[in-house]
Formats: sequence, C-alpha cells, structure tokens
Amino acid sequence: MTAKGFDIAIIGGGVIGLTLARALCDRGAKLAVFDAGADVPQATRAAAGMLAPSFEYGEEFGGPAEAVYHLGARSLAMWADYAAALEQETGVFVDYRSDGALGLSYRDEQTAALAEQAAQVKRLGGDVEMISGDEARELEPALSADIAAALHAPKDTQVDPRRVMAALKVSLNRRGVEIIQGRVLSLGDGETIRQFVTAEGDIYEANRKVLATGAVGGLTSRGLVYPVKGEATAIASESVITRVLRAPGAYLCPKAEGRLVIGATEEIGPFDHHSVSPAAVAGLRANAARAVPALGMAAELERWAGLRPGTPDGAPIMGQDKNGRYLALGHYRNGVLHAPAAAEAMAALILGETPAFDLAPFSISRFSSGRDG
Ligand SMILES: Cc1cc2nc3c(=O)[nH]c(=O)nc-3n(C[C@H](O)[C@H](O)[C@H](O)COP(=O)(O)OP(=O)(O)OC[C@H]3O[C@@H](n4cnc5c(N)ncnc54)[C@H](O)[C@@H]3O)c2cc1C
Repeated sequence: MTAKGFDIAIIGGGVIGLTLARALCDRGAKLAVFDAGADVPQATRAAAGMLAPSFEYGEEFGGPAEAVYHLGARSLAMWADYAAALEQETGVFVDYRSDGALGLSYRDEQTAALAEQAAQVKRLGGDVEMISGDEARELEPALSADIAAALHAPKDTQVDPRRVMAALKVSLNRRGVEIIQGRVLSLGDGETIRQFVTAEGDIYEANRKVLATGAVGGLTSRGLVYPVKGEATAIASESVITRVLRAPGAYLCPKAEGRLVIGATEEIGPFDHHSVSPAAVAGLRANAARAVPALGMAAELERWAGLRPGTPDGAPIMGQDKNGRYLALGHYRNGVLHAPAAAEAMAALILGETPAFDLAPFSISRFSSGRDG
C-alpha cells in the first residue's frame, strides 16, 4: 500500500495546531492536521478563553517567566486583528471582547499580593493599575461591597475558544487543509524517517512533523508535558458583569448569549477529564457569588473538565527536538492567549525563516536531561 504523503504533518488539532496550520497555509505550505478527536482529550474545548498576560505568566515556577509574559503580551496585541480576520473570512462569530479584566481582593494580604503583581507587570511594560473597591464597583456595579481593591488590566480580554475552534476549522477547510481524524501512534525518529501510523493502521508520510498534542496523547510526554486538570462550569447570566473578574478562588468570564463561565480548579496529574467533582463546582460557584452576589441563584448550564498541558517550569516548549521533530507544546494555562504569536513564530521556524521573536527561552534543551529530545 502506498502511504499518503504531505510536506508537513501537524499532529494535534487543538488551538495551537490549528492556528499553526493556518499560519503555515498563509505562507504557502502544504500540510495536513491529524487529530485524535474524542479518543484523546482536548484542553482547548475546556478553556475559558481569557487573554490574560497580566495575570498568568508562570512567575511562580522559576522558569523563563519574562519571556512567557512577552509572548502573551505580543499575542494579546495580535488577537483583535486575528479575531476580526477570522470572523470576516469565515462568518463565524468568535466573541472577542475588549472590556479588560479586574483582579479582586477582600483583604490586606490579597491587596498586597495584587499590588506586587501590578508592580511586576508594569516593570515588564504592561498597562495595569491598582484601583480601590469603590472604583472597581464603578466599573462593575454588581461587585460585592466587600471588594477592597482591584488590579485593573484594561487590555486583558477574552474570546470564546469553542467559537474560535469552529472558525479555524472553517478557515482551514476553505484553504484546502485536511484535518484527518486519527490518533497517531508512533513517529519515526530522525529526519530521514518520514512514516507514521495511526490507530486505524493507516500509514502516512511527511517531510516535517509537528507535535501539537496538548497534555496527553502518548507521543511526547516522558514527564515533560503533563496534565493539569481544571474543572469549570457555566451559568445563565444576562449582563450582570461586562468584563473578566478574577476573584479569590474563581474567575468569571461573561460570554455571548447569556452564558457566564466560572473556573477553574487546578490539580496536577490525573488523566481523567470526564469526572467533575460536585464539591469543586460548588466551591467555584460560592467564590463567584461572594464576589458578585447577584449570581448566587443563577441556573447552571454546563460543567466540564479539561487537561492543561503543563511543563516543569510553566513555560511552553517551542522549537525542534534532536530528532528533527518540531514541538508546539506545553502552553499550560495560556494556549488560547499564545496561539496567534506562537503560530507565527513556529511557522517561520518550520519554513526556515527567522521567527519574529527569540524562541531560545522555549527550547526543549532548557531541560537539562533533554528527556524529550
Ligand atoms: C479549565 C481550563 C481553562 C483554561 N482557560 C484558559 C484561558 O482562559 N486562556 C487560555 O489562554 N488558556 C486557557 N486554558 C489552557 C488552554 O486550554 C491550553 O493551553 C490550550 O488549549 C492548549 O492547546 P493545545 O492545542 O496545545 O492542546 P489541546 O487543546 O489539548 O489540543 C491537542 C490536540 O491533540 C490531539 N492529540 C493528542 N495526541 C494525539 C495523537 N497521538 N494523534 C493525534 N492527535 C492527538 C488531541 O486530541 C487534541 O485535540 C485553560 C485550560 C483549562 C483546562
């Protein structure tokens, strides 16, 4: 049997794989995406879609946090145009919002922590400010009287990841990119080994292979990319709040059609993305209602869990491994945020161009044992 061949094969059709496919297509590359579908969980489906470089850039892990911050800020700056272009091309609404975000505190220690975070983000060039509880309530009148202060990040914002994925699929379809349903079981090592096999037993060939496999999938992990489970819920809430709120113990993201996402727990390790603990959802709801009491009785629409692709230092892995495979992995809590900038940089790298920013901080070689390559 002759194997079907492509110049570039992207393994993994989450937000990182599909935005990369689109960026490669824009540069004239010939490629296909392989995605395991329901067989392997996808973090993107579970994401809240916050575009939030001011809040989560992995500063607590001792990794290249500044580089992660700048990747997030660069990508945030691209998102407005990216979302508009995607909508215009596909007619699919992606619910990009530019309302900003508020990090909330009730107590002095929480205010001090937010002030320290604001100072750090400002040092990195971000546009954030500390405001009083009253000023926060002027922006969001439904906030509890107990809110003492807030970190206002006017440029942090959000999209709806499920809508973005729907739009990306339409975009790729129009560009003639095949998204092949199939779990890739094994990859040849070395640039000369072109063949790979799916669970269905189909054999394919590609000159260049890109791993964008998220948290699980069996091809890459060897301990470097691991799942960090997150549980979340959505409730019915029409126009109670307008911007993303990050309260102690829960974030709140208002979406289109009266849907409000409340997330998320964090638990390292379990490969289980099916079970959602009632206690976790109750905790998220209680923390959300403490910040915005009007949400206390809102009806639940949905609850779910997903597996973030974590790495030991909280930073993504982008570049090439020693076997010549391209890696687009480990975007942890920020894959939706990072996607447009990461896609441009990886597309440039794969096609032998110079990426718009230095990928060295994200190289797999930073892990001294080099376990994955
Ligand atoms: C609860 C929760 C909330 C989040 N909120 C946010 C947020 O607000 N903002 C943000 O930026 N990020 C957020 N994230 C993180 C974000 O979801 C991830 O960083 C991002 O989705 C990672 O994208 P990915 O494409 O790398 O991986 P995934 O979305 O997991 O996609 C990987 C794909 O690869 C496929 N695959 C795996 N192995 C194989 C194989 N062997 N063969 C074929 N296909 C394979 C899988 O089926 C999957 O479709 C959140 C995550 C969770 C869980």
